[in-house]
Amino acid sequence: MRPITESDIRSSFVNCSKGEAKRLGLPADLAEQPWQDLDFLGWRDPGAPDRGYVVAEREDGGLVGIALRAVKGAARGFASRSMCSLCLTIRTGGGVALMSARRTGEAGRLGNTVGQYLCSDLACSLYTRGMKQTAGGDFEETLTVEERIARTRDNLAGFIAKVVA
Ligand SMILES: [Zn+2]
Repeated sequence: MRPITESDIRSSFVNCSKGEAKRLGLPADLAEQPWQDLDFLGWRDPGAPDRGYVVAEREDGGLVGIALRAVKGAARGFASRSMCSLCLTIRTGGGVALMSARRTGEAGRLGNTVGQYLCSDLACSLYTRGMKQTAGGDFEETLTVEERIARTRDNLAGFIAKVVA
């Protein structure tokens, strides 16, 4: 994705209030992100550990930001394995967490959320490219990196479509 700034990020959120978007904690190393290798910018809030954020580019070049919250009590045992729904990385020990996103519009006002298993550090782009390794052990991938990138992007678009209904 193209490099984006703090104001790009804060104005991109579709499922939280303007006040929340203004206050949320940005990644400390925003300027040093490996933008060319990111399908989306994902991070955990440095000041609120149960919050996470995903900012992605739409096809028209606009941005869509999704605020996430880790689901309490969803953490499984250390030895159990979970799969991220975006990059399909399998990880143990809490490396994949159940996160929920409030839906936009009327559904969100009624309290509807979308739950999704995601890499806890939201660094799916780097796992997809083999730039970050997991301790949990990857399963044997037969796809090329390009195919994996396309798959992660498809999964991301599907997730966003469920939130922005
Ligand atoms: Zn992932």
